[in-house]
Amino acid sequence: MDYDLAIIGAGWAGFNAAIRAKELGLKVALIEKEQIGGTCLNRGCIPTKTLIQSAKVYSLAKKSKTFGIETPSPQINFSEIQIRKDKIIEQLRKGMESMLKGIDFLKGEAQIVSRNTLKIGQGQINTKFILIATGSKPLELGGLKFDGKKIISSDEILNLKQIPKSLLIIGGGVIGCEFASLFSTLGSEVSIVEKMPQLLPGEDREIAKKLETVFKKKGIKINTNTDATTQDLTNYELVLLCIGRIPKIENLDLEKIGLKLEKNKILVDGYLKTDISNIYAAGDCTGQVCLAHFAAYQGRVACENIANPCGLKQANNYNVPNCIFTDPEIASVGLNEEAARNQGMDIKINKFDFLGSGMARILDETDGFIKIISDNKTGQILGSSIIGPRATELIGILTIAISSRLKVSEIQNTIFAHPTLSECISEALKTNYAI
Ligand SMILES: Cc1cc2nc3c(=O)[nH]c(=O)nc-3n(C[C@H](O)[C@H](O)[C@H](O)COP(=O)(O)OP(=O)(O)OC[C@H]3O[C@@H](n4cnc5c(N)ncnc54)[C@H](O)[C@@H]3O)c2cc1C
Repeated sequence: MDYDLAIIGAGWAGFNAAIRAKELGLKVALIEKEQIGGTCLNRGCIPTKTLIQSAKVYSLAKKSKTFGIETPSPQINFSEIQIRKDKIIEQLRKGMESMLKGIDFLKGEAQIVSRNTLKIGQGQINTKFILIATGSKPLELGGLKFDGKKIISSDEILNLKQIPKSLLIIGGGVIGCEFASLFSTLGSEVSIVEKMPQLLPGEDREIAKKLETVFKKKGIKINTNTDATTQDLTNYELVLLCIGRIPKIENLDLEKIGLKLEKNKILVDGYLKTDISNIYAAGDCTGQVCLAHFAAYQGRVACENIANPCGLKQANNYNVPNCIFTDPEIASVGLNEEAARNQGMDIKINKFDFLGSGMARILDETDGFIKIISDNKTGQILGSSIIGPRATELIGILTIAISSRLKVSEIQNTIFAHPTLSECISEALKTNYAI
């Protein structure tokens, strides 16, 4: 069979690429060896956030008295929580499959035989272009290997049958902190070991400190500046190893066609093209920003460049929101304070504490603040970091502000509804709150 484009991997990058390529009139094959939806749907974003929502309901039920509602002591039914999660995944999988009309969805593991030929199981297809969107997998740590029982990855922890009594999390990044927040709320004794001086390395320092304070209040033990190999693993029922992810490219036979890699990542240029002119790559396998929405964006841009070689589009990774579904939530976009200061930029920082928000008090979620970074001379908004209620939704407003190059004054002149959390953004930008 001959195609314009063969996409390897039906995760968020490959799936969105396939839909866009079909819209652009290309004849597309989408190849997947496991299940549609990839990491995001089956082992990542969706299952974690579904479990986190159940934990949120539990903690809300436990404090229902605060809202004047008397409930008998709430109980966790962990198997029901897992059933709900699996049902949501299944519904979304069906939804994705139903969108594949006009795209050939081929089940099997793809290998690149030549620049224009793929082997899938016993079959073979020819194609003008290839898009590699094979994603990533959890990384092991030197002597510490996954055994699927005691030392597990994020893949296995999502399918536990029981809540562990004690859990050691190695790696205090986004995935580690989300699981720490989740299992601590569900009653596990949680400890985190992080090699760097702060949780969430790379995030705003003040926000990481705030999260540490909240985590410690919840009873989570935090050891930053600590090497995991110093830990006695026998003290824990379960160890979650989440120190990062690496591109999943091992069975593609990329060496045979001479495709250039760097530290196991597929090297792409700004147009998402590899060093072989008809082969593109998108998503986690490029090792750039490992987020589902970025993978989808790259997948779409790659297809637009394949379909329209005379109007090439650059994929940028400047304005990508990063959301962390801890309790409280964290979100950031654009420049953070440290990055701006390290670049010697003349910035202004505006802040607003959720303690001053009517809606945060109504929700009983006043822990946290909004920080907005702008250019001191022009007033252009450059970045924002938020910790607090619905931070992951609020960041959308700042993402639009940055992509539209809005100035502080334009947000100040916008009327936000009251009482809402979004009005905290304009409150933050009132000059008298600036620091
Ligand atoms: C626990 C966890 C939580 C996360 N939470 C979030 C979140 O809240 N928000 C967010 O934005 N991101 C989150 N992520 C990251 C997000 O899941 C990834 O960035 C995203 O899934 C990357 O998409 P992708 O399409 O590049 O790769 P993947 O989703 O990994 O898809 C790649 C697909 O390719 C298939 N494949 C691989 N090799 C072959 C082959 N040779 N032949 C055929 N098929 C093949 C794989 O089976 C897979 O289905 C999370 C990740 C984890 C692990």
